[in-house]
Amino acid sequence: MTARGFAAGTPTVPLRGTWLEHEPLAEHTSWRVGGPAERLYQPADLDDLVEFLRALPVQEPLFWLGLGSNVLVRDGGIRGTVVCTKNRLRVIEARGPTCVYAEAGIPCSHVARFCTDRDWVGAEFLAGIPGTLGGALAMNAGAFGGEIWSLVRRALTVNRSGRRIWRAPEEFEVGYRHVHGPEGEWFLAAELELSPGDGRAGRERIKALLARRSATQPTHQPSCGSVFRNPPGDFAARLIEACGLKGHAVGGAQVSAKHANFIVNSGNATAADIETLISEVRNRVALLCGIWLEPEVRIVGEPLV
Ligand SMILES: Cc1cc2nc3c(=O)[nH]c(=O)nc-3n(C[C@H](O)[C@H](O)[C@H](O)COP(=O)(O)OP(=O)(O)OC[C@H]3O[C@@H](n4cnc5c(N)ncnc54)[C@H](O)[C@@H]3O)c2cc1C
Repeated sequence: MTARGFAAGTPTVPLRGTWLEHEPLAEHTSWRVGGPAERLYQPADLDDLVEFLRALPVQEPLFWLGLGSNVLVRDGGIRGTVVCTKNRLRVIEARGPTCVYAEAGIPCSHVARFCTDRDWVGAEFLAGIPGTLGGALAMNAGAFGGEIWSLVRRALTVNRSGRRIWRAPEEFEVGYRHVHGPEGEWFLAAELELSPGDGRAGRERIKALLARRSATQPTHQPSCGSVFRNPPGDFAARLIEACGLKGHAVGGAQVSAKHANFIVNSGNATAADIETLISEVRNRVALLCGIWLEPEVRIVGEPLV
């Protein structure tokens, strides 16, 4: 496979991954909406991805996608190249008595299972987060009191020219669903430090957490999880429900009747429906509660013209 579609005059390099053009991103996002990526690359492995980045012209816009469970891709799609780690970068292995090395494409649920299978505890909360490790590192994903960055011993990043760098947690500004690190770097992998414990009890905790999710969240409908961050001292879901917005719909996008901070695709939603509903919810909550909700989901790409 060669890197076709690069700007004229750029060298063509042999690559082992999958190179797609005009790839519909609705197939790569949990909301099941979104226009095409001009170009999408699924690397064969970490070395291949590094080669790819070295060959990518500097002016080419670049976006990274994991399992697409926290992004709203607009209907006009994404210009430039999308690197997609889903089902790629899947190495996971033990490094030391309670340390796991996992690459960016590993699903969070897999990390949780890997750890409990070895009688390591502390990663159970990851079991119900339907994203990749790379996406979790970028978002500081968390649930039920746990957050991914509380486990990170060090993270492996790559920059635009393909240079790999091991970085300590102190090199990142980490907060509630917020991570800011060195500009122009993405996550390739991380080492997570767990605690020794009882794997069987850990598996029971996972079962209980998953049951709690399916009792309180619309897990069988396409969504992006919580749309808004919780404002300090309150819950976005409580505010949205208090404004009478449960069930409110725009086209095929609907505020879930089960969990007011979820917007579900009831079958034929467009990204524009979802984005319009997001702004209607924000405006209504601002008007009635005086609180301006900040989206947790990342809205990317171009509107349809
Ligand atoms: C039903 C449901 C429940 C959810 N529950 C939770 C929850 O309990 N807690 C929680 O925190 N989240 C939750 N989420 C949101 C989502 O699963 C997490 O934010 C997850 O970490 C996103 O991972 P992803 O691989 O899908 O990332 P994507 O959605 O693909 O990307 C998210 C962001 O990360 C960036 N990114 C992706 N990979 C990399 C990389 N390798 N390097 C740098 N940047 C990268 C992307 O560019 C994008 O900006 C839920 C979502 C759903 C659908």
